[in-house]
Amino acid sequence: MALEEYKRKRDFKKTPEPAGEVASRKDRERFFCVQKHLASHLHYDLRLEHDGVLLSWAVPKGPSLDPTIKRLAMHVEDHPLEYGEFEGVIPEGYGAGIVMLWDRGTWTPQVEDVGAALKKGDLKFTLNGYKLKGSWVLVRTSGRYAGARRGSGDRGPGSGDARSWLLIKHRDDWSGELDIAEFAPKSVKSEGDFEDILAEDTPAIWVTNKPARPVVGGETGAMLAKIIERAAKLKTDRVTAKGTKGAKAERQSPRRRAAVSGPPEGSRRLRKTTR
Ligand code: MN
Repeated sequence: MALEEYKRKRDFKKTPEPAGEVASRKDRERFFCVQKHLASHLHYDLRLEHDGVLLSWAVPKGPSLDPTIKRLAMHVEDHPLEYGEFEGVIPEGYGAGIVMLWDRGTWTPQVEDVGAALKKGDLKFTLNGYKLKGSWVLVRTSGRYAGARRGSGDRGPGSGDARSWLLIKHRDDWSGELDIAEFAPKSVKSEGDFEDILAEDTPAIWVTNKPARPVVGGETGAMLAKIIERAAKLKTDRVTAKGTKGAKAERQSPRRRAAVSGPPEGSRRLRKTTR
């Protein structure tokens, strides 16, 4: 798979995403990333560098560190390598919404032949990211996941089921019950949340392609408005869940928060009320 499907789905005059070329560098570490993508549905895109492109799986619930939890991962089209550093707003068209670089690092296949492992539908690998580490496996379910086994012969590539895989953490020093998506919800690139990415006036990359008015009219505009609303609600829910403690700090930008010294606001308030 080269990047034909990736390109076919996008109008590069209208999206800040990179057009991308198949890269040919072979003598470097393999890159991986997870992009948290607030589009029509929130999901996490796991991308593994292989043969000059990023193999990609959309994981609706995000990766789990718990080896007993299997996360559905839909195999989607390969993406260009430079997409892996992308964080920003996709103003319209395919995948319209906000992309956050949620994790990144390097990956190492635990097999000799990645192509063969993909074909077989069983890819074991090691991640070395900021949030995700250790041993993982991607297993193709061939439709078993949905419990909808199709007619006997039709389970090869090209059937609807061939795209569903499971992402599972192997038990090791990096597995556990911690809900990593909940515990570390923000960007490893900007340290911001979705609203911070939206509010940023100088995104590091693709700024020249960014339309003057990111929120457009019509259907896409309405959807983006909904997405912005949902981003705000995600934040509100998180703040509410945490209660008063840390709520003020959460609302501040990462840079401002880093500049704050002394005990967190919540603890000060707590001391005052107990006095
Ligand atoms: Mn996506």
